[in-house]
Amino acid sequence: MLCKEIGPRPSAAPQERQAADAVEATLRRMGILDVQRQTFKSPNSIGWMTLPCFLAGLLGVGLAFVGGLWGRGVGGLLLLGSSVVIYRLLFAAPPFFQRWIARWTSQNVIARLPSQGRAEQTLYLVGHLDSQKQRFQFPPSLYWIMRAQTSLPVVVGIAGGVALLGAALFEVTVSPFWLGLLGAAYLYGVTGAVVDEFQPHVEGANDNASAVSVLLGVAETLQRQPLERSEVVLLFTGCEEVGCVGMEHYLQVTTPPVNDTLWIDLEMVGTGELCVVTRHGISYLSSYRPDSALVEAAARVAQRQPWLRLKGKALVILEEVATLRRWGYRAVCLAGADVHGMLPNWHRLADSLEAIEPDTLSRAACATWELLRELDK
Ligand SMILES: [Zn+2]
Repeated sequence: MLCKEIGPRPSAAPQERQAADAVEATLRRMGILDVQRQTFKSPNSIGWMTLPCFLAGLLGVGLAFVGGLWGRGVGGLLLLGSSVVIYRLLFAAPPFFQRWIARWTSQNVIARLPSQGRAEQTLYLVGHLDSQKQRFQFPPSLYWIMRAQTSLPVVVGIAGGVALLGAALFEVTVSPFWLGLLGAAYLYGVTGAVVDEFQPHVEGANDNASAVSVLLGVAETLQRQPLERSEVVLLFTGCEEVGCVGMEHYLQVTTPPVNDTLWIDLEMVGTGELCVVTRHGISYLSSYRPDSALVEAAARVAQRQPWLRLKGKALVILEEVATLRRWGYRAVCLAGADVHGMLPNWHRLADSLEAIEPDTLSRAACATWELLRELDK
């Protein structure tokens, strides 16, 4: 239904809302009545964040080229500023200009499933509703340059910014060769980002209809067989693909208690090798780790149920665990990876229903269920 009837679900687009409606209707048909909707404002493309940063860098280099002392000073500050914003984006932190670009309406769907007895904790299951554009910069087709390429704007911004400020302070000139190289780096960023902005949106069968389907399957099972002492909240988020905006909004507005909540995020669980992500991050500068107790719980599940073929693995991935960890929550992510440890068909048109491996999806659902039961103990 998500892939073929609704199709691609751009962040904050009508199709994303249709997906939210479909999920809500499905939950109500199962007899789950505590379903809420949360609306919020969001940018509708990641380009609203990356393009201003690359353009600021390009402007900074231009100013240094023509503007003498002041040009070098202001140019240096622009480079440093763009570097800081991009660095924060690598942890899904909103840029300082978020309120100006958050002009579209999106939504989260939240379903609550009570425990049999008194609830001592809340277990969250997270899956996002939106799908990304095809993006050749994110990830690049040469998968092994991904982390280097993503580190580049941060490193170039800091090195270039410090050099330009130093040149302004000590009144020395910067060679046109180095300025040209710096400008070329930002021009590469701008061009790539513009090319990506005009790409079509992907069907998003793996990213992340796979997670939505697992959440719905677990919901159906929980209806028949609730956990003993854990309430379960299913959180279907909007606008994950533009900086985890739905999750950020949920935490801001709902402020769930840090101590009594555990979070499992599902990302692209429909193909490849089923993994518990042990280290996340898409650059050399921005890795983040899941909660170790949750990873250990998943390891116990994997050991007890070897047929799940669930493995711990460090992946090149950026998702809502970044937001959750930044806020201090205990979270872990399940994802499917290919032989290179990369996410299959990530942000490519090939991410369609035909590429889903039923066996992987099925094991992901069972692994999620087993992990919930393990955490309930
Ligand atoms: Zn995703």
